[in-house]
Amino acid sequence: MSLYVQKFGGSSVADAEKLMHISHIIRNARAAGHDVIAVVSAQGDATNRLIEKKNEISTASFPREQDALLAAGEQISAALTAIALESTGVPAVSLLGWQVPLRSDGTHGDARILKISHTRIERELSRGRVVVCAGFQGVDGENDVTTLGRGGSDYSAVALAAAFGAERCLIYTDVDGVYTADPRLCPTARPLPTVSYEDMYALSRAGAQVLHDKCVALAQESGVEPEVLSCAPGSASTRIAASSGSRGLTGVTRRENPQDDYAAVTLVGGALPSLSIEKKAVLALNAAGVPIRGVDAGERTLTLYVDRSASREALCRIHDAVLI
Ligand code: ADP
Ligand code: ASP
Ligand code: MG
Repeated sequence: MSLYVQKFGGSSVADAEKLMHISHIIRNARAAGHDVIAVVSAQGDATNRLIEKKNEISTASFPREQDALLAAGEQISAALTAIALESTGVPAVSLLGWQVPLRSDGTHGDARILKISHTRIERELSRGRVVVCAGFQGVDGENDVTTLGRGGSDYSAVALAAAFGAERCLIYTDVDGVYTADPRLCPTARPLPTVSYEDMYALSRAGAQVLHDKCVALAQESGVEPEVLSCAPGSASTRIAASSGSRGLTGVTRRENPQDDYAAVTLVGGALPSLSIEKKAVLALNAAGVPIRGVDAGERTLTLYVDRSASREALCRIHDAVLI
């Protein structure tokens, strides 16, 4: 029987209605003859709310306890997803990182997955159950709970797909694929049917949160081809796969740090470095009156530093100058 890994992000599991909707998606995959490992994130902005609760007590860093705290978000959604499935007659079991176990190193807050045990998941699948794994969490050599970095459920999904040789690794989110820029910021952004591992990795590193950078690196290493799509029926999708050798431009993204007054806007694509593209981007910002604080040309990337308050304007201007 073929296996699907289906990962659902925070907005896809945010409330009871959404949970019933994703159980329907999982049920359809089962009805089409596939075993399913579902991977879920914490509901909505639950992770941020847990961080706020901790900050109400102390803003100091407590890496071990913070991981124990944050992993609770995914524990809730895994149990609720299994309950939603069972309530509609689909046998399911939720598993936390330590129950799999999904072994990681001990870097609290940014752990790396080392090994995923097959025994428990295989036993549950062979009993005909959907396995609902809590994303974003592992267990280290001390049996302490670790988390994998913000947005890390994507990484859990690809690691499970690689470990079990899944036929498909479907990343359901709140957009119907990867676009040339964040479609919430840039209305002219275009959907991309495929993106190479290299370009997706560069976009993720430069701030495109749609896929976690560790997930993209692992996908490339293991040959998993994640598909990014929305939960809407018939959604378009983007497949992340080996490069077809194109030398064009793929997309543009931005990274902002709350403590900095500047932001980095990064263009990504095989055509870079390119003086003519750099010139077009600089001219577009000059025409919009956006001051440029610095430029950094790299292999497959071009980064322009601008005032943080102007980063959205810069992103869209550069996008429209070189990507449409
Ligand atoms: P999830 O909770 O499902 O993991 P995320 O919020 O982590 O979802 O990632 C999805 C978001 O990524 C989208 O809502 C979108 O705003 C943002 N995003 C940033 N860059 C891009 C891009 N190039 N294409 C699509 N979405 C992007
Ligand atoms: N819940 C975690 C976060 O908000 C992990 C994830 O969503 O992938 O970062
Ligand atoms: Mg995410």
